[in-house]
Amino acid sequence: MSDQPAASWIVLKFGGTSVSTRAHWDKIAAIARAWRERGKQVLIVVSALSGITDQLKVLTEAHADAPRRAIRDAIVARHESMFAEMQLADRAPLQYWLERLDALVANARAEAGGLPWQAEVLALGEQLSSTLGVTCLNRLNLAAQWLDAREHLHAQPLPNQNAWGRYLSASVPAAPDPVFAQALAARGGLFVTQGFMARNAQGETVILGRGGSDTSASYFGALLKAEKVEIWTDVAGMFSANPRQVPNARLLARLDYEEAQEIATTGAKVLHPRCINPVREARVPLAIRDTNFPELPGTEIGAVAPDAAPSVKAISSRGGITLISMESIGMWQQVGFLADVFEHFKRHGLSIDLVGTSETNVTVSLDPTENLVNSDVLSALCADLAKVCRVKVIAPCAAITLVGRGMRSMLHKLSGVLAEFGAQRVHLISQSSNNLNLTFVVDEVIAADLVPTLHDLLIRAEAMRVEDAAVFGPRWRDLYKKEQSARAESWWIARRAELLALAEARTPCYVYDLATVRARAQALRTISPVDRWFYAIKANAHPALLKEIATQGFGLECVSPGELERAVQVAPEATRLFTPNFAPRAEYAAARAGGVALTLDNLHPFERWGEDFSGHEIFLRLDLGAGRGHHDKVKTGAQSKFGLALDELDEFRRLAHRHGVRIAGLHAHLGSGILDAAHWKDVYVQLASLGEKIGSVRVLNIGGGLGVPARGDEISLDLAALGGALAEVKAAYPQFELWAEPGRYLVADAGVILARVTQTKRKGDTRYVGCDAGMNSLIRPALYEAYHEIVNLTRMYAAPAEPVQVVGPICESGDVLGNNRRLPPTCEGDVLLIAQAGAYGAAMASHYNLREPAGEVIL
Ligand code: PLP
Repeated sequence: MSDQPAASWIVLKFGGTSVSTRAHWDKIAAIARAWRERGKQVLIVVSALSGITDQLKVLTEAHADAPRRAIRDAIVARHESMFAEMQLADRAPLQYWLERLDALVANARAEAGGLPWQAEVLALGEQLSSTLGVTCLNRLNLAAQWLDAREHLHAQPLPNQNAWGRYLSASVPAAPDPVFAQALAARGGLFVTQGFMARNAQGETVILGRGGSDTSASYFGALLKAEKVEIWTDVAGMFSANPRQVPNARLLARLDYEEAQEIATTGAKVLHPRCINPVREARVPLAIRDTNFPELPGTEIGAVAPDAAPSVKAISSRGGITLISMESIGMWQQVGFLADVFEHFKRHGLSIDLVGTSETNVTVSLDPTENLVNSDVLSALCADLAKVCRVKVIAPCAAITLVGRGMRSMLHKLSGVLAEFGAQRVHLISQSSNNLNLTFVVDEVIAADLVPTLHDLLIRAEAMRVEDAAVFGPRWRDLYKKEQSARAESWWIARRAELLALAEARTPCYVYDLATVRARAQALRTISPVDRWFYAIKANAHPALLKEIATQGFGLECVSPGELERAVQVAPEATRLFTPNFAPRAEYAAARAGGVALTLDNLHPFERWGEDFSGHEIFLRLDLGAGRGHHDKVKTGAQSKFGLALDELDEFRRLAHRHGVRIAGLHAHLGSGILDAAHWKDVYVQLASLGEKIGSVRVLNIGGGLGVPARGDEISLDLAALGGALAEVKAAYPQFELWAEPGRYLVADAGVILARVTQTKRKGDTRYVGCDAGMNSLIRPALYEAYHEIVNLTRMYAAPAEPVQVVGPICESGDVLGNNRRLPPTCEGDVLLIAQAGAYGAAMASHYNLREPAGEVIL
């Protein structure tokens, strides 16, 4: 390779677990061989065998000979056994470093525990592992050479760096050195070197500190002006959230250096933030790959062109944050206040992370990964600060950060996310001056639950544009096959030809598939703890659907005289419930006369027209204090107009008693689009315990709200789990009949809209595809930021092109049916299919702009 005009280097870094077994070295050999076969020079940077650096660290801290010898023996045994496992023959190189370990342990300097001695001891881990590795590669017929990293990485002290930092957290100024790259290429094509170490100007060994081996790879990448640095580890790359917390987190296929730096700094552990700067300066691309799954694509970090539209790339969270709130004592805009307080942080060696200021208050955060924040340091700091201000410590907190380029231009998409924070105590909000992050500091206990919800909300709000396949890769749980999505293939794929023929006759139109409705109804009927099912006909009151659902044994839940009338016309035999909200007096009387079960959710009817209900049974709808659902506007608990507040229950009972009314049932419906089976168990338990207290209660109605996943990211509601959870409560409260009244679950997937493309347009960077269905046919995207899958039915199997906005013909900016959808190149006349439109679609349509909404067709 040495006679090539310019050396083309690939730097591969393997971490502790990736170098600790023979099988792993086989993989390393295969990866290196593949690059060699493509004509590349390869430099492999390795960490110590897993656990060895920790043992060496303990050795440096041991104060007696016996523990030092015990650790020495364990380290020797570990490397001997690795040597044997690798079936290596040439023992001399390993022997050299093991003797060096003995010499260092025996060295008189050990007693003093000096920093240069500590650095030499700590460096041994990588010196041993790289020695074993190079011997192993040679045995596998790869001509690898051992390279002493210290010969090429020259540390320079930072300004004000103390001795500890100079020896154990050193930095290397690494700029491309073409002479070195060429000279090394002349020596051979494959080298193995050590991460974590360098040499100082005095020729002593120094250590690079945390993230050291990744940083070494990055330094070598910069020095060699490598074609690429690959960090091989045990996870496929950076994700849009911590995948252990959020299994739906997406692999980030491509990031620019600054975004990657920000994600690493704000919580992602896969890469240490300090290893990004050297490759960024040298413009060397860096990739993260999984050693166990080399076929996975990984994350590519480089200088990428700005995205067409900004997107939140990740949500990360860091715990253990301490907030210090400092109130200036009655000195409005006091000159030098900031300088005074920051001086104290400097003196206590504390680096500040986030800052929030007002006229009289400064609040800062301290991140434990950058600081030694223990109670001694804090109390000393607070004692000093108390001389200049009033101090309050708020801990433990967590910093939740949204990362993405152009954060300030995304605020309008974050309303749902901000609303979620609104329900929590937020201590500090900080927006970074580089426009890359927005951070919220909250109590640490809530962070773990909050992050998955926020990740979901970011996707729903299309602030995290997961449709953009260039940036967002597969979900973690799909990559690692942790869980299989239970979603079945949609009916409209099989019936595409029929739908296209229908669209020839008319668009826009809703098309419903009765077989899907039937299947959903039958699936619900298998949930045996539910004694009676009702269908909330507001979701879709099309007569054919009502008839089908009633045939499956469902009663009908109605909220207006119009719905009651429709129910009687279509299914006179079906039991009807009337659950209105703020309805006029006459409606209750009419419903009661028609033999319908009435539900009240307010004191007013009893206070003003109690006599209307005398001698009758009613149901009481309660607000259990918290709303649930896919959007704020579908949450019907807490801050909504629905349900009787629990603190009014006693008064309601008193009035019921006064008017001779029997409370026969309790009801709660707290929101829509819920995918967590545990929700209804919670509702059931709460209603049951209240029902027991009231005495007259016979029935508990746990409402509807059963969700249907809108995106591939979401996991279907687990009906078996729901049945199991309800059965547990039923066993404890067998005296109550259990009712439920879903709407969306039965009909959402059964309906689609067919729309015809009217015009296409390009404005600035945005492309639009217009169609003849607008928000007057389907208002859910505008009203709830709801996601509906949209496909070009005409060109269903063509490759997708650039993302487009799918819009309708209504004179409203909000007339957008889908944001950033990757459709195939789409032309006037093509038929679009808008999926999951069976629930709250036609039912909410209007004649706005005097445009006819989509008609309805039953297949
Ligand atoms: N029950 C009541 C009282 C409701 O208000 C609603 C919806 O608004 C439902 C049931 C049905 O909800 P979903 O369609 O989400 O199942």
